[in-house]
Amino acid sequence: MKYVKPMINRIDFNLASKYGSPYKVQRIKSEIEGVSVNDLANEYGSPLFVFSQRQIEEKYNEFKEAFSSRYPKVQFWWSYKTNYLDAICKIFHKLGSKAEVVSEFEYQKARHLGVDGKDIIFNGPYKPKEALRVAVKEGAKIHIDHWYEINDLEEIADELGVEIPVAIRCNMDTGVYPAWSRFGFNIDNGEAYDAIKRIYEGKKLILTGLHSHIGTFMLSTEAYKNETIKLVQLKNRVEEDFGYKIEYIDVGGGFASKNRLKGVYQSPEVIVPSPDEYAEAIVNAIYENNKGDLPKLYLETGRALIDEAGYLLTSVFASKRLPDGKKSYIVDAGVNLLYTAFWYNFEIFLDKRYEGLNEPSQINGPLCMNIDIISENIMLPPLDRGSVLTIWPVGAYNVTQWMQFIRYRPRVLLIDKDSNVHIIREAENLEDIIKREQIPDFLK
Ligand SMILES: *Cc1c(COP(=O)(O)O)cnc(C)c1O
Repeated sequence: MKYVKPMINRIDFNLASKYGSPYKVQRIKSEIEGVSVNDLANEYGSPLFVFSQRQIEEKYNEFKEAFSSRYPKVQFWWSYKTNYLDAICKIFHKLGSKAEVVSEFEYQKARHLGVDGKDIIFNGPYKPKEALRVAVKEGAKIHIDHWYEINDLEEIADELGVEIPVAIRCNMDTGVYPAWSRFGFNIDNGEAYDAIKRIYEGKKLILTGLHSHIGTFMLSTEAYKNETIKLVQLKNRVEEDFGYKIEYIDVGGGFASKNRLKGVYQSPEVIVPSPDEYAEAIVNAIYENNKGDLPKLYLETGRALIDEAGYLLTSVFASKRLPDGKKSYIVDAGVNLLYTAFWYNFEIFLDKRYEGLNEPSQINGPLCMNIDIISENIMLPPLDRGSVLTIWPVGAYNVTQWMQFIRYRPRVLLIDKDSNVHIIREAENLEDIIKREQIPDFLK
């Protein structure tokens, strides 16, 4: 047996403390899709993001099945901002998902991947006029966020001499607070209806869809039911009042993944609704409230489809004993790579079984900043330099919101269904950073 320096820890018998249960077994993950995490870190470097094609496809098919077994006209639109790596978007597009973008950059990225304009939903509060013009010409589905955008689109309609099909984004009280009320037009106070009336009277745009995105990591199926009822009732009303034919209702994204929110102590297995439960709430609300032809149902699910398919491997670089007796590990991945660490208590797996007792520990990243904490309270056995930890689930939002702050962004891998490993994003280097910079002559 390896020598382990003795220590004294106060243990509260059988009481789960902020560290969890003191004798909790070691949680081990030695491979991802049949490939050893140690081999991955050795061969491709550490830290390292790893995605599983199998998990992405299984999750997508589970959601697809939940909705399309209940409703005849379902379409998923991949939320680019949740993860816009080319290879990840390609997987979703091959599965039948179209693209949902919220900026001209994302729009360009979808087009570069070969997505037709008509297969792109263009959302977001900031759509510069030039970007709108391109989207109109290419037939994208434009979801209007505010009154200025109505004017901009009418000007473009005049300019191009066309009538532009549009949808509007709506917000409403769904019983979940704080409500996301700053995007789109409010249904409850009549603003959404007024916007549609304005569109109707302008005679340059034609309303074909109604959209809302009520929030993210929504644990309440009731909120989706309320949202859908309000959208469908608005649809019925404007079809009757203005003779519109609303082709689709878009309920947005926001379904929760199996991640553990800070401050929520129940297991995600218990509190996160299943795809069937979300689908049941939304689809029933359409059937029970819709008048006339059934609209298509659009979903912009992001997080719930990709979070659990993403892992971050990180290696222990050093450890120290803090003044309060807690063990602190310094690892090579920090909040620069894990933006979602501010909200989630991730699962952290060891690469193998370690000798020695679990003790109260914290895991810190490599940044020179006090906030660089991956896990504040975790029971870990004594780990060596080079021990590989797997942080999970990290597939949603991290590889879009990561920062190039004092370190380069690392490689991203995809493991396919035959356990072949592919690099889908190369690590950054100095050249990537400095090629954008210029030194004024007087400083040369
Ligand atoms: C971010 C976003 C989504 C995806 O949300 P998730 O919580 O990741 O499912 C969908 N639609 C819009 C408009 C968004 O802004």
